[in-house]
Amino acid sequence: RERLEQEEAQRLSPRAVCAKDTRGREKPIVPCPMRTDFQRDRDRIIHCKAFRRLKYKTQVFLAPEGDHYRTRLTHTLEVAQIARTLARCLQLNEDLTEAIALGHDWGHTPFGHIGGHALDRLMPEGFRHNEQSRRCVEALENDGNGLTLTWEVRDGILCHSGKQFPATLEGQCVRRADRIAYLNHDLDDALRAGVLQPFELPADCLKVLGQTHGERINTMICDIVACSADKPTLTMSPLVQETMDGLREFMFARVYRDQWRQAEEERCKHVVEALFSYYSEHPGEMPEEFVLIGYKEGTARAVCDFVSCMTDRYAIRTYQQLFVPSGFSAI
Ligand code: MG
Repeated sequence: RERLEQEEAQRLSPRAVCAKDTRGREKPIVPCPMRTDFQRDRDRIIHCKAFRRLKYKTQVFLAPEGDHYRTRLTHTLEVAQIARTLARCLQLNEDLTEAIALGHDWGHTPFGHIGGHALDRLMPEGFRHNEQSRRCVEALENDGNGLTLTWEVRDGILCHSGKQFPATLEGQCVRRADRIAYLNHDLDDALRAGVLQPFELPADCLKVLGQTHGERINTMICDIVACSADKPTLTMSPLVQETMDGLREFMFARVYRDQWRQAEEERCKHVVEALFSYYSEHPGEMPEEFVLIGYKEGTARAVCDFVSCMTDRYAIRTYQQLFVPSGFSAI
């Protein structure tokens, strides 16, 4: 570990966070003889139940629709790849970047943003997936003890979206990589689903960003690397930034907010609302770890934690068990 720490100090940019300079953990732990603190955080994240559940959580296209659509897990891996490329090119800490990327979306509910919007209406203080991601690593995982991660990883996870910006450039790599990943792969999945046809894509955006999926990702990454050397924050050139914003608006109008899946959205919303209301009335029927949260932080908080942790298939199965007579069940 000490050799790795020295190597980081020599190799990384002065703007990077070296593992030996971490602001530390909430509770100090004995250092690992082999791995730096950020390498250890990355490994802790990968070995968690919440990480494995990402496999069965929706990105945009509901998971059962086809094997080739992105899930929350493959989205996470694409974010990690893009964020690491940015970090490596800018001589930032790849281990810290990867740890943040692999944990950034743990707080997403079943059924993607549909579930998130439902919980946002049900919770008195609202629901934001980035805050829930941080709650997962600090308070829910590891049987309610949290993962005891470093401050920089927790800051990056909390600030990967929302108004607050990450304190580290490694966190900013993940924030940028998240947008690059989802815009590009959601576009790819929308074409796969036939929601969009290739001729409908905005020609001015393709002219600047590229004609293929790979070219567009490459343009965005190269632009950030070229514009961000020696800057205090990561930036893009005005042309690529404006074009990317234009593509994002197009995606909101045609894919994220369009009517094509409204019936399915209503069903997903109904499942989340029904589960929330059932467990609010019967909190003792939740797994023990959530019953304990209810005692300490109130029933609504505990139910929100339980429901938001669910995968799509767990939510559907639980709904069927609670509300659908077994004689008529599809399963
Ligand atoms: Mg994400």
